[in-house]
Amino acid sequence: MKKILSNLLVVGSVAYDSIQTPFAKTARTLGGSGSYFSLSAKNFVKPSLVGVVGNDFKAIDIKILKDIADISGLEHQKGKTFHWAGKYSFDLNSRETLKTELGVFADFKPTLSPVHSLAEYVFLGNIHPKLQLDVLHQVKSASRRTKFVGLDTMNFWIESALPDLKKVLKEVDVLIINDSEARQLSKEHNLLKAAKKITTLMSARGASSNMQEGAPLARVLVIKRGEYGLLMFSSVSPSFKKRGLGGVRIFNLPGFPLEDAVDPTGAGDSFAGGFMGYLTKTNNTSWENLKLACVAGSVMGSFCVEQLGTKGLIGVTEKNIRNRLKEFKKLVNY
Ligand code: AMP
Repeated sequence: MKKILSNLLVVGSVAYDSIQTPFAKTARTLGGSGSYFSLSAKNFVKPSLVGVVGNDFKAIDIKILKDIADISGLEHQKGKTFHWAGKYSFDLNSRETLKTELGVFADFKPTLSPVHSLAEYVFLGNIHPKLQLDVLHQVKSASRRTKFVGLDTMNFWIESALPDLKKVLKEVDVLIINDSEARQLSKEHNLLKAAKKITTLMSARGASSNMQEGAPLARVLVIKRGEYGLLMFSSVSPSFKKRGLGGVRIFNLPGFPLEDAVDPTGAGDSFAGGFMGYLTKTNNTSWENLKLACVAGSVMGSFCVEQLGTKGLIGVTEKNIRNRLKEFKKLVNY
C-alpha cells in the first residue's frame, strides 16, 4: 500500500501501560490511545500525533513513534507520563481499570501548529471531552478544510464529563465506542435503541457542515463488540428514514476469528487508526467506503490483540495486512 502525504491528525494519550491478562503481564510498556492509533494508521497514511509525555518517557519509545508519525506536536513536559493499569477477565471481554495516573496529562492543553490545523481528517482520541472540543475548534477556526472528524471516548469520561462529551458529540462525524460504552451513554441495553439515541445526540450536520461535494453521512456511530465484530449505524437525513432497520442504516461486520488473542489493550484505538487511515488514504467518506474502512480497522485491531501491548502492531507488514484483508473477504462472502 502506497503512503500519501500526512493529512490525518490524531490527538490522544501517549502512555505507559501496565497490563495483566490471563496469559501475560507487562509493566510500563508503551501505550495510549494516540500511540495505538498512530501505529495502526501509519499502514495507510503517516499521521500527525499530538499529545504529551513526561521526562520519564524513554528515547526508544520516542524512536518508535518518530518512525511512524509526525511527532512535532508531541509535547515534553516535566513530570510523569500518563500511566494506565488494567486487568482482563479470562475471556478477555471485560477489563478492570486498576490505575489511571494522569501525570503530565492532567495539565495538557494542546495548541495546534498552523500545519496541523490544516488536516482534513481529524481523530479526537480518548482524552477529556473539553480538550477534544478545544482541539476541534482550533482546527475549524484555523481552516475550513476539515472533512471528517472521528471521536472516541470511554466509561471514565461518560461518568465524569458527560455535559462536555455531549457538546463535542454535536460536532463530529463519527463516534467510535464499544458496546458497554454505548449502553452507558444511552442508558439503553438494546444496541439498536442505543444507536438511535446516540445518533440523536449527535448533530445532523456534524463537523462536515463545511463540506460541499461528496458530503459524508453525518451522524455515524460505530459500536465495537470485541471479538464479535462491530455494528455501524448512520442516521442521516429524513430521506433515509425509510431505509434500513427502523430508519437507521446498519452495517454488521463479524470479528476476524483468531486462535491467539493475547491482549485486547488498544484494539479499539487500532481499529480507529485503520478506519481513519483508510478514509484519509481513499479520501472518500461515502457509506460504501465507510464499510471498507470498518474492514481495514478490524484487520488492524486483529493484529493488535495477537500480542502483548503494541508488539502486534509494530511487527505487522504490508503483506500481512493484504493477506488478512483477503481472508476477511472470504470469511464474509456468501
Ligand atoms: P483501548 O483498549 O482501545 O480502549 O485503549 C487502551 C489505551 O487507552 C491504553 O493504552 C491506555 O493508556 C489508554 N487509556 C486508558 N484510560 C485512559 C484515559 N482515561 N484517557 C486517555 N487514555 C486512556
